[in-house]
Amino acid sequence: MDCIFCKIIAKEVPSDIIYEDEKAIVIKDIHPKAQVHLLIIPKKHIISVAQIEKSDKVLAGELILISKKIAEDRGLKGYKLVFNVGREGGQMVDHLHLHLLGGKVSEMP
Ligand code: 5GP
Ligand code: ZN
Repeated sequence: MDCIFCKIIAKEVPSDIIYEDEKAIVIKDIHPKAQVHLLIIPKKHIISVAQIEKSDKVLAGELILISKKIAEDRGLKGYKLVFNVGREGGQMVDHLHLHLLGGKVSEMP
């Protein structure tokens, strides 16, 4: 499948991986828009929030819990979590991902 995030998950494309478990991976965004800009990506190829099904609700919740843990580990007192949904919602990569933005945000992803 021609999906950049699936290739990153398969380690076919290099990335700065800062967390990984059986369900998800967290990488540094290649074009950071904040002092801390991470992407929490499920290993399952789901296109976007618009394609999430009820059976994915545990997985969707895990993305938030992983974000919380990483923010705590990094001592972030506040941060933004962003899902862009569809082209008109600013989504450029069609594999579900949650942006974690901390510190000074230069622009919204
Ligand atoms: P979207 O606009 O789809 O919500 O966000 C996609 C994000 O993925 C962008 O912030 C972009 O900088 C990031 N991105 C795109 N390609 C790569 C890549 O190959 N490696 C990494 N680490 N980030 C990427
Ligand atoms: Zn994918």
